[in-house]
Amino acid sequence: MRLSQQNLLQNKSFINNEWVSEQSGKTFEVTNPATGDVITRVANCTPKETEQAIEAATKAFEVWRKKTAKERSAIMRKWFNLVNDSRNDLALLMTTEQGKPLAEAKGEITYGASFIEWFAEEARRVYGDVIPTPLNDRRIVVIKQPIGVVAAITPWNFPISMITRKISPAIAAGCTVVLKPAAQTPLSALALAYLSKEAGFPDGVINIITSDNAAEIGKVMTEHPLVQKFSFTGSTGVGKMLMQQCASTVKKVSLELGGNAPLIVFDDANIQQAVKGALASKYRNAGQTCVCANRIYVQDQIYNQFIQEYKKAVTSLKVGEGTQPGVEIGPLIDEKAIEKINRLVHEAVGKGAEITTGGNNHMAGKLFFQPTIVENCNQEMALSKEEIFGPVSAIYKFDTEEEAIRFANDTEYGLASYFFTQNLARAWRVAEALDYGIVGINEGVVSHAEAPFGGMKESGIGREGSKYGIEEYVEIKYLCLGGM
Ligand code: ADP
Repeated sequence: MRLSQQNLLQNKSFINNEWVSEQSGKTFEVTNPATGDVITRVANCTPKETEQAIEAATKAFEVWRKKTAKERSAIMRKWFNLVNDSRNDLALLMTTEQGKPLAEAKGEITYGASFIEWFAEEARRVYGDVIPTPLNDRRIVVIKQPIGVVAAITPWNFPISMITRKISPAIAAGCTVVLKPAAQTPLSALALAYLSKEAGFPDGVINIITSDNAAEIGKVMTEHPLVQKFSFTGSTGVGKMLMQQCASTVKKVSLELGGNAPLIVFDDANIQQAVKGALASKYRNAGQTCVCANRIYVQDQIYNQFIQEYKKAVTSLKVGEGTQPGVEIGPLIDEKAIEKINRLVHEAVGKGAEITTGGNNHMAGKLFFQPTIVENCNQEMALSKEEIFGPVSAIYKFDTEEEAIRFANDTEYGLASYFFTQNLARAWRVAEALDYGIVGINEGVVSHAEAPFGGMKESGIGREGSKYGIEEYVEIKYLCLGGM
């Protein structure tokens, strides 16, 4: 891979501002999902290096927390500028290890960098409170302080933004971080680390541990007594287990887990808007996001019109290697993902669904799948309960608003939801009735650093981004001043 800054391609872990190998030199492969080629091998670290990183972060905490918010903010601002200036290299790196089209990768760098910028600004607004006293001889004051060392684990579908969304609020608050990226996409994480060193963070503020043994690294991160906070983005099953592990030391946890997003098209929707929104929500990152429309509910009266337009749009999506011009759908991450989609689609067909567009592996390569539409779906099918995580639209017909809300809420998940209507009263009514942390109204892409991202029910705990995001990384301390 030819980058204009070749130093962005790193293959060791990043501990205490140094590049560190696994003690005995063990490594694991990072491959390009579009071609199957090995890009490089990366240090396969163990609990030992993880503990080393936690100790470095603990030392660094004493230095970093004492900097003024303005000082922390200035270094973050430098990091933000460096990430933006390296956008083309970072995008190429991301497309090569993750597969998403180059244009989407560039979009993710901008989005990922926006968290650094936002929290560099928020660092200076962590206000406390003075509370009216119930007794004349005392005063009640609240201050906010950084919680301490943060451990974090991130997934492969957004190799940069899932990392900046956790690290930025943590370091803005004055915390230090040890993060393990997904084994499929460690290169983007290491490039970010390289740029953080260039930006001038003190030793040990940001540490990245690479490993393909997530369970053993996760165990250290969740059980280590020097870690005060654990933040995870990934599947609900793994999240539940990690939360349990955190119980032994009562760590504060933030979890961004799975979703099962409904997208409802009411008969009073603007059809063009609904088609555009559904397409963007469903097919971004080849359908591999936790906010992708997983169930598309379309009201009887406009069903045929919507489907006709939607099919046209889906059929014209260009599939191929992400570095090729004009490509809109890249490969899936691995063979397990292809197997899962095939299983879900075939199970649905066995229960009466009908494939009306696509439905097969794509000839672009082993990990490519055709943009697909499956109609006639119902709540009994596995694809209504599980995250599809691929370029497959599952379409359901519904009759009344009440029915649509009931179907939409019929899941243990509660991350993102979407609906399309031109009726203002319905917009409020439905938005209030949906049990989801995020509601897109006449919009299919809703993520912004300024807005709170997070789920209800089994989709998680806590919010990332926005003015709420930094709260996850501070402790509230109450000072009672007596003897006045
Ligand atoms: P996905 O289906 O997106 O890969 P996972 O929850 O398996 O979802 O992965 C998300 C992150 O969690 C990745 O960094 C992965 O390495 C990590 N992970 C997976 N299993 C475990 C585990 N048992 N303990 C700690 N981390 C894990």
